[in-house]
Amino acid sequence: MSKSLIYSHLYAWYEVNRRNLPWRETEDPYAIWLSEIILQQTRVAQGLDYYRRFLARWRTVEDLAAADEAEVLREWQGLGYYSRARNLHKAAKMIVEKASPARGDGSIFPRTFDEIRALPGIGDYTAGAIASFAYNLPYPAMDGNVYRVVARLLDIDEPFDTSAGKKLFHNEIEKLLDRENPRLFNSAIMEFGALYCTPVLGDACATCPLSDFCLAHAHGTAELLPVRKPRPKVRDRWLDYHIYINEQMVNDQMVNVFTLIHRRENPKDIWYHLYEFPCEEHPNAPINDPYGEADRMNEVNKEMVNDKMVNVLHTLSHQRLHARFIIHKVSVLPQIEGTIAIPLSALDEYAFSRLTLRALDTLLPSLLR
Ligand code: SF4
Repeated sequence: MSKSLIYSHLYAWYEVNRRNLPWRETEDPYAIWLSEIILQQTRVAQGLDYYRRFLARWRTVEDLAAADEAEVLREWQGLGYYSRARNLHKAAKMIVEKASPARGDGSIFPRTFDEIRALPGIGDYTAGAIASFAYNLPYPAMDGNVYRVVARLLDIDEPFDTSAGKKLFHNEIEKLLDRENPRLFNSAIMEFGALYCTPVLGDACATCPLSDFCLAHAHGTAELLPVRKPRPKVRDRWLDYHIYINEQMVNDQMVNVFTLIHRRENPKDIWYHLYEFPCEEHPNAPINDPYGEADRMNEVNKEMVNDKMVNVLHTLSHQRLHARFIIHKVSVLPQIEGTIAIPLSALDEYAFSRLTLRALDTLLPSLLR
């Protein structure tokens, strides 16, 4: 396989087809890092908005380090996987604490792969992406799209998500990497996987600029690749969230509506430091669980609403949450340890999980009426 021919075909395709994305137009490592963390498990269209807002609010790593974690979580709200936001903030603080005087370009951002890789929330992929996009250092950036392209080009049917598979793919991409132009190579192969060599190929291979070099195309195995290890079983959980509503009347006028929330305090929890309504978990499906086996198997997110309750089915990577948000209108708020009473109108000052936000989106108009 001629690497230089692959490069020239790939780069020619990239020149014509690349998307204009703001993080491609910069070599600022802080901006590239922000984009990479936001885009983990997030679609580009959704991530764009968050990227612009974060960058407008915290222009430099020093600005982000000086922010409150609660503010960062609130800005992150809706993106899910909140450990990403917590690590982003923690890493910004570490960078500022360890910073030696700014270099000639004024940046204090770490400059080597190993320094970048040592930051919280950064794995091999993200470190490779920042090192190559910001500094043009010769490290691969293997995201899911690149695994797919490499599996097909080389017809590798080893699962790519086991440690042996990762090592094998890493060795192959190291051999394929364009060491003269790592920034261009990584950008082009990622974009090619995202836009052209996609999971469902249709008739893409027939006109593919890399088809002459593609072993899976030659062997007729492209649609079967890449191979994943078998998925772990998804666990069902049944949760009741209690939304206590206490309306306070003064001179026949309702002046405020209070409710109870508490903050999750377990550092191992994916929703660590996010707020939620008092919650109880049932070991099994409640008798009136509205979702049957068919819904659970569909693994879709959906909501069902009535006057006093909203049911939300919410899927995470290993869990399917069957949540009921139940409204209790009370004359006195109950005493529940660890909770605080807040006006309903102040809910948007607190960061909530995507699950709770989905329920609130549906319920708030009626609660605030
Ligand atoms: S020939 Fe098909 S499978 Fe091979 S790189 Fe091109 S699009 Fe992907």
